[in-house]
Amino acid sequence: MRIHTSHFEPMHVPEVSLFTHLFPDVDPFPGDTPAFIDADTGRTVTRQQLREGSMQLGWSMRNNLVKLGGVPLKKGDTVMIFSPNSIAYPIALHGSIAAGLRVTLANSSYTPPELAHQYHDSTAKVIFVHPALLDTVMAMYKHIKVGIKEAKKRIIVMDFGLEEKAPKGLMKMTQLFGKGQLVQEERFDGEHSNETVLLCYSSGTTGKPKGVESTHKNMTAVLRIITPVLSAEHGKDRTLAVLPFYHIYGAVDLLQYPIQQGVPVIVMSKFDPEAFCQNIEKHQITFGLIVPPILVVLTRHPAAEKYNLKSLRLLVSGAAPLGGPLVSAVQSRLRSFGNDTAIVQGYGLTETSPTAHFVPVHDAERKVGYIGKLLANLEARLVVNDGERDAEEGEAGELWLRGPTVMKGYLNNPAATKASITEDGWFKTGDVAIVDKEGYYMIVDRQKELIKYKGFQVPPAELESVLLTHPEIADAGVVGVESVTEATELPRAYVVHAKGLPTNSEKDAFSKHVQEWIGSRVAKHKFLRGGVIIIDAIPKSAAGKILRRELRERAKKEPVVE
Ligand code: AMP
Repeated sequence: MRIHTSHFEPMHVPEVSLFTHLFPDVDPFPGDTPAFIDADTGRTVTRQQLREGSMQLGWSMRNNLVKLGGVPLKKGDTVMIFSPNSIAYPIALHGSIAAGLRVTLANSSYTPPELAHQYHDSTAKVIFVHPALLDTVMAMYKHIKVGIKEAKKRIIVMDFGLEEKAPKGLMKMTQLFGKGQLVQEERFDGEHSNETVLLCYSSGTTGKPKGVESTHKNMTAVLRIITPVLSAEHGKDRTLAVLPFYHIYGAVDLLQYPIQQGVPVIVMSKFDPEAFCQNIEKHQITFGLIVPPILVVLTRHPAAEKYNLKSLRLLVSGAAPLGGPLVSAVQSRLRSFGNDTAIVQGYGLTETSPTAHFVPVHDAERKVGYIGKLLANLEARLVVNDGERDAEEGEAGELWLRGPTVMKGYLNNPAATKASITEDGWFKTGDVAIVDKEGYYMIVDRQKELIKYKGFQVPPAELESVLLTHPEIADAGVVGVESVTEATELPRAYVVHAKGLPTNSEKDAFSKHVQEWIGSRVAKHKFLRGGVIIIDAIPKSAAGKILRRELRERAKKEPVVE
């Protein structure tokens, strides 16, 4: 076994509840420091308001919900948050955590069936929902055959921080404030720090989305090990939340890390190039967490020139591969405006809480294209043929990771957990990497079936099962195709028509139809932007498994028209 250790000094990881870690009794920073600021309205939640609001909301969740017409909740129960970014989000999250609840975060563009899968699988009892998404939630309850009366007991409308009124007859988040306050948060210290606190969803290497059990200790560990490399400082730094809070990247790096560091977060509900650049200038943003397609925008959008981006010292790109040429293009454009912003990569997975690798800023220019060095307290292996042997020096292998940030497992899915974590604790990432002599890693391939569209997970198995419900589709295989101009993969379906289609024009018409048809059935990041191609047979192994590598090779020869 060839174990690669971290070049960083080992760090002490506190075995305390996540809430206790983020909100110690004596706040190291002034209580009136802004914690979250709404980019559009300027409405601010200070650190003190965040803590107190969370303790009040937490108290109501445990003691007052029934009185308000809701269902009772006990320690360890799961609640769901279904919302785009807003200043209400951190209070719903940390209030629930203070109350000893587990929180599952759902993608705000989910359709009712997608939401139903996560709601049901996570055994959520209550759902915090942004008013704009109420219809989806109602349709979700209908989908799982829960009547309106029962559904209403389980919905909390996130009206906090909004001008518009929430509809009558439903519980509102603002009703949870001011009735009482937890004397102390529920504690998960010592060995209890191994209990689950967050449930983000990931398909892992194969299959449909699964609940990733992130523990209190996973969270406190990652918050510790990213600190020396992100090094945001109270009084100096401000960050902009454009990444969604529901993805582990946002849930940790925007909803937790800035609280630990006393750094304000300016909250945008969605990405918009103009608003992104304008907010950097307006709020003097110093560091931003982004995904590669945002860098594409910075290479060509006029807003990058229109606004003064000089406050921006660092952009961290993660969640998807980032090519060197794109970094160089952004860097030279920003330089031409007199900007000196460093662009570095981080790497990780939902299952590793997420960040495992990071490029220290001083190496930003020397190590373009690398995902960085292994963070403190982590070990890595590069493994050939699913554990047959470890890669030789300079040879590529599947990246396996071990350490305190590796998830506990997939919720209620021992088979998937066993398939992804070895008995001695190695988590199999499904990404193929190499490591150089200085300990810098580079991802060179992905051997798992997962597709990433602009950092969002697109599990092929999920799309295939939707496609197979189409009466004219006999078989389907979904893979990703590269789009260089958008710096992302695009999901593409290869489908077999039930009766066969003799002419090219019939094939074209059917593929257009399938693209439209899927559009009303899945969240928008799963749309078949890479096209639908009609073929005679999906390549399969003797055991009936789709030979994705063959499909991917084929897809490379049939590039997207850009
Ligand atoms: P998620 O669980 O949604 O965070 O997805 C994790 C996957 O995203 C990883 O297994 C990689 O395939 C991909 N990924 C994340 N960060 C990077 C990166 N910096 N470079 C290449 N791929 C990445």
